Amino acid sequence: MKPIRIIGGGLAGLSLGICLRRKGIPVELHEKGNYPRHKVCGEFISGITKETLARLGIDPLFDDALIHHDINWWMGSELLLTEELPAPALGISRFKLDKRLADMFQREGGQLILGKRIPLENNHNEGCVWATGKPVNPTKAKPEWIGIKIHAVNTQLNGLHMHSSTCGISGSKGGYVGLAEVENGRTNCCGLFHVRSDIRPADAHSRWSSPAAVLMAYAEACGMTELLKLMKSWQYDPESFTATAGFSLGVQNSQAGFSLGDAAWLIPPFTGNGMSMAMESSAIAATWLEKYSADEINWHEAEHGYQSDAKKHFSRRMKLSKLMHPMLFNFPGQQILKASSKTKTLPFKSIFSQLRKP
Ligand SMILES: Cc1cc2nc3c(=O)[nH]c(=O)nc-3n(C[C@H](O)[C@H](O)[C@H](O)COP(=O)(O)OP(=O)(O)OC[C@H]3O[C@@H](n4cnc5c(N)ncnc54)[C@H](O)[C@@H]3O)c2cc1C
Repeated sequence: MKPIRIIGGGLAGLSLGICLRRKGIPVELHEKGNYPRHKVCGEFISGITKETLARLGIDPLFDDALIHHDINWWMGSELLLTEELPAPALGISRFKLDKRLADMFQREGGQLILGKRIPLENNHNEGCVWATGKPVNPTKAKPEWIGIKIHAVNTQLNGLHMHSSTCGISGSKGGYVGLAEVENGRTNCCGLFHVRSDIRPADAHSRWSSPAAVLMAYAEACGMTELLKLMKSWQYDPESFTATAGFSLGVQNSQAGFSLGDAAWLIPPFTGNGMSMAMESSAIAATWLEKYSADEINWHEAEHGYQSDAKKHFSRRMKLSKLMHPMLFNFPGQQILKASSKTKTLPFKSIFSQLRKP
């Protein structure tokens, strides 16, 4: 079998590596960081089926994940809806999950090379798959978005909670925060915000003297009063604080070559579908890479076959999320969401399901 080289050991790269190893394909995986590590992520997994996890060979890794059945959505101080999820979601930290995947990849005989960043040139090298996550957007001088995450400890929060911003008619800077319980009584607090130059980490820390101060400053600026009350009452694990900026949401054009996960499709985080997409794209890629490795098709055919299947699989949710995302930030959109939730006409379950369908 011809070998495959994977660059990037997040969910996409590691799940692909495990799947290919199980097919007897030699795999070398390069990850610039190390494990375990915290990542900016809502840690709420939804959309991927048990069958796809089994096809990848990683289903046992989720056996002890928390199972979330419902969601509460707040806009500012107003509870917009409490709904049962159309399908249960999983809660597990990236600290735990990525380490488990890395260990499994090595147990399956994969070669894991840590601590070195591979330059992104030569994307088209035969046998090389890019699973490097969110590309830095070189076209934007200033970052538009910032993602921030921290774990609160000893919490008791059932289900999932989303808090989104409120804004005035002229206001456009906003964001949202997802709270999802993970293992050991921890609640992951993760937000995506428009970057604000008026929020400085030093000021935020002198105001709240909490490891979650920056997230609290953004929550306050976005009118998330209920969230702020909750966050002020919690204790945090300072080691779990992470932030990321300088990326664009949507289909990623800058990344050429055989790429999967966020490197190819960066769905807005409010959907809670990015991790699922990373693993779904691995399952699609594995079929084509197996044929390439067995010398049934050439690299060009494998790349094009994968891209065409992935496009069919992800286009609908990318288009819908692109339409929905701005509604969370602009005044008319927020009014529509509020009015439809009051009159119980917000088709939450249908939108949730459509955002996960091929
Ligand atoms: C604020 C926010 C909240 C989110 N919340 C959720 C959520 O609740 N649910 C959900 O499903 N998704 C969520 N997501 C999305 C989810 O985190 C991603 O979709 C998922 O992590 C993508 O996996 P990936 O493997 O493609 O990339 P990543 O997990 O980012 O992995 C990429 C890996 O590649 C490595 N790497 C990068 N460049 C190189 C290089 N040149 N050489 C070597 N290694 C390299 C990185 O170190 C990293 O380990 C959220 C995202 C954000 C920003």
